[in-house]
Amino acid sequence: MTTLDDLPIRDDLRGKHPYGAPQLNVAVQLNTNENPYAPSEALLDDLARAVRQGAASLNRYPDRDAVELRKDLADYLGHGLTAGQLWAANGSNEILQQTLQAFGGPGRSAIGFEPSYSMHPIIAAGTSTRWIEGGREEDFSLDPDRAVALIEEHRPDVVFLTSPNNPTGTALPLPVIERVLAAAPGMVIVDEAYFEFARTGTPSALSLLPEHPRLIVTRTMSKAFAMAGARVGYLAADPAVIDALLLVRLPYHLSTLTQAAARVALAHRGELLGTVEALRQERDATVTWLRQRGLSVADSDANFVLFGKFPDRHAVWEGVLDRGVLIRETGPAGWLRVSIGTSDEMAAFRAALEGVLS
Ligand code: PMP
Repeated sequence: MTTLDDLPIRDDLRGKHPYGAPQLNVAVQLNTNENPYAPSEALLDDLARAVRQGAASLNRYPDRDAVELRKDLADYLGHGLTAGQLWAANGSNEILQQTLQAFGGPGRSAIGFEPSYSMHPIIAAGTSTRWIEGGREEDFSLDPDRAVALIEEHRPDVVFLTSPNNPTGTALPLPVIERVLAAAPGMVIVDEAYFEFARTGTPSALSLLPEHPRLIVTRTMSKAFAMAGARVGYLAADPAVIDALLLVRLPYHLSTLTQAAARVALAHRGELLGTVEALRQERDATVTWLRQRGLSVADSDANFVLFGKFPDRHAVWEGVLDRGVLIRETGPAGWLRVSIGTSDEMAAFRAALEGVLS
């Protein structure tokens, strides 16, 4: 049998592991930070209509530059942004990949502050960008002095900041982002995949764009927008950054059907984002319950909660799974992460965890 080691793959990919959140057929799935609410019948009808209309021209390539979608995204984000400052791709993962294809690559480096989103170093590896691992404080916040010192020491081409951070839920104060922007010699990516779940009044890094042409703010329709299956991510940045991405993107990367579905979802944003407040309340209730249960819990501005610490977290994860609830074994040793579901799903999670712990 041929194994990976028998193949002439790149030396820098040998021994690496693929991204691997388990996809198991379990009743309660709280492991990949999706929105638990499926599209309504009204939204399904509009999606079907738009997809049908788009399908009528499937013999032709899609709009290569997704102009109408980028206009809609600019309109959604506000902050005076226009289509020329927006870019869209198949999930924010592809956005991040295109960004590293343009600004990272062989001989270049990127820094992230871990624990953070596990795909950042994986995308760095895929683009042959050297990964430099920064750390966080005990409470998972970022100390700006330490972050700046690390950036000055390594002078990376790309700095990753994630706010709210996955898997900790930690939101970054704007002054910390501004300190990093002032110190970074290259591009700064603020990954705001979970921004819509942040507490009201949390400022977005989008407000820093006018002063910072090397800032990239990434977002996604996979989380608050409840469209993970559609694969739509996007970024806002200076128009010159979009010019750079045009050099590396594959032509026609975003299908006609994807563009149509994303525009319908944006038109229905009132309904889709209408679930955010309930999820925030469920999140805060989950944090309170876990703390009452005597566990350590990271403050969360996202739609998930990191909790621990367990001497054998795998046994706890497995025990919860045996009771029909899939959570995620991720983050620092001893911690587990639960995505926020409906109130019924969270009741099932509490019962499962209670069953394991008592
Ligand atoms: N950024 C962060 C911080 C994430 O947690 C995720 C998904 N887990 C993504 C980006 C990528 O999401 P998508 O490709 O679905 O937009």
